[in-house]
Amino acid sequence: MDAQSLDRSEESLNQPERLIPPETLDPPDWSSVAALARRIVDDAVDHVGRARERPVWRPLPAEVEALFRAPVPEQPTPIEDVYALVKETVLAYPMGNIHPRFWSWYMGSGNFTGALGDFLAAIQGSNLGGGRHAAALTDQQVVGWLRDMIGFPETASGTLVSGGSVANLVGLTVARNAMAGIDLREEGVSALKEPLRFYASDQVHSCHRKAVETLGLGNKALRRIPTDSRYRIDLASLRAAIEEDRAIGFRPACVIGTAGTVNSGAVDDLAALAEIAAEQDLWLHVDGCIGALLSISPANAWRVKGIERADSVALDPHKWLHAPFEVGCALVRDRVKHRDAFAVSPEYLQGMSRGIASGEWLHEFGLQTSRGFAALKVWMALMEHGVAKFGRLIDQNIAQAAFLADLVRSHPPLELLTEPEINIVCFRYAPEGQSEERLKEINVEIMLRLQETGVAALSDTTIRGRHCLRAAICNHRTRLEDLNLLISEVLRLGSEVAPS
Ligand SMILES: *Cc1c(COP(=O)(O)O)cnc(C)c1O
Repeated sequence: MDAQSLDRSEESLNQPERLIPPETLDPPDWSSVAALARRIVDDAVDHVGRARERPVWRPLPAEVEALFRAPVPEQPTPIEDVYALVKETVLAYPMGNIHPRFWSWYMGSGNFTGALGDFLAAIQGSNLGGGRHAAALTDQQVVGWLRDMIGFPETASGTLVSGGSVANLVGLTVARNAMAGIDLREEGVSALKEPLRFYASDQVHSCHRKAVETLGLGNKALRRIPTDSRYRIDLASLRAAIEEDRAIGFRPACVIGTAGTVNSGAVDDLAALAEIAAEQDLWLHVDGCIGALLSISPANAWRVKGIERADSVALDPHKWLHAPFEVGCALVRDRVKHRDAFAVSPEYLQGMSRGIASGEWLHEFGLQTSRGFAALKVWMALMEHGVAKFGRLIDQNIAQAAFLADLVRSHPPLELLTEPEINIVCFRYAPEGQSEERLKEINVEIMLRLQETGVAALSDTTIRGRHCLRAAICNHRTRLEDLNLLISEVLRLGSEVAPS
C-alpha cells in the first residue's frame, strides 16, 4: 500500500487497523502450533534417545542434496509441511557427533537438556549484548562458574563466544594490546616499535594462525617451538627462541600453552610456562579448548596444574561439557585489560542507573554487539548434573582411550602411534613391508569405509611424518563395547583393503 492510497478519513483514523492492516509472524491459532511443538519434542526425544540404533553418518542422496539448492520461497508453506521436510532432510542426515561411535576431529556429543536450553533461550529471546535482565545474569553466572572451575580469581573477567577459535582470538587480542607498549587501539600495528612475537608449540591449533593474521601481526609473528617426545612444547627451545628474538630486536609478547593438542592430546607443562612467562615478562595464554576442564576431573586435574596462573584462557563448553554447538569462553585474569581491549561506548549504547540499560554491557568484552543466550544450555546442564559428574565423564573418556590403546597394542597389525595422554588415540593398520605412502592409502580407505558403512567416525592426521587414524573420545555416550566394535571393524576392513 502506498502513502497516496491511505484512507485518511476521520473514520479510518479512529480505526487504525483499517489504515494499516496488521500482519504478524504469530500463528492465527496458537493451539495448532502447540500440537506441532509437542510432536516435535516427541520426535526429538526419539532422535536423541535412539541415536545408537542409527548409523553414525550416511551419505545424502542426490535428490536430498538438490532440495538444499531450491531458491528462496516467495509463497508460504504450512508449518506442518515445513517440519516434515526438516525431518526428512536435516534431521535424517546429521554429521553424526551425537552418536556414541563418533570420534572424529574434536567435538562434544551434545545433551538433551542443553538442546532444551537452546530452545528456551530462543523463546525467552533476550539479546546478550548486555543489560539488566535474567539472561544477562545467567551469562555472567556461567562465566563465573567456568572461571571457578579453572581456579581463576573472582576478579577475573570472561565472555561467552561462539567457540574456541573466537575465545583464543579474544585472549590473543588482549595479549597483543597489553604487551604492545603503545596505544595499539588508537595507533594500530604499523606504529609498533618492535614487531611482536608470540610462541606456541608446533602442535598449536590452526586457529592461532588465523588469530595472529587477523590481529595484523602476520603468521610469522607466531613462532612454532619444537616439541618433546610427548609432543609438549620444549622448554629449552622456547627459552632460546625468546632470547634470540630479543637479541635481534623483536618484542616477545606472549606464550601460548596448549592444554590438550588436537593431534595427540598433549598437555604442555603449564606450571613451567607460567614460570617462564613471569621470568621473561610475557603474557601467558592457555588454549584449553580440549583440556582446560581437566581441572574438574578427579583423576586428571593434576595434568593442568599451572593453568590458574595464566593471563588468559580459552575453553570450549561445546567439547567436554557437551553443550550443543555453539559456545566457547574466553577468560582474562585482568578485567581492566580485557575491557580495555574491546570497550567502545557509542551514544546509542549508554549505561543508565535504572532500567534495562543499568546492567553490565557484555559487548564490551568481545567483538560481538548482539550476542545469543548460549549460557542457558550450559547453565541448565550444570544445574541438572552438577559439575562433579562432568568431571567423572572426563575421567571416563580418558580411561576409555587407555582401553582403546590397549586393544590396539594387543591386535597386530595395528600400531599405536602415540601413547594417549588424555582421550586421543592415534593408531594405524600397519601390515609389514608397506611403504608410508601405501599405509596412508590403506588407512584413509579404512576410515572412509567406516564412515560410509555408518559403523564409526574417525578422522586422520599425520604426526611427525606418519599418517594415522585418530580417535578423539569426547563422548558421554561411548561404551567399551563400541571400542571393541571399532577395533574388530578396523581389522576386518584392513584385511579387505590390504589382503595379505
Ligand atoms: C577445538 C579447538 C579449537 C577451536 O575451537 P572451536 O570451538 O572449534 O572454534 C582450538 N584449539 C584447540 C586445542 C581445539 O581443540
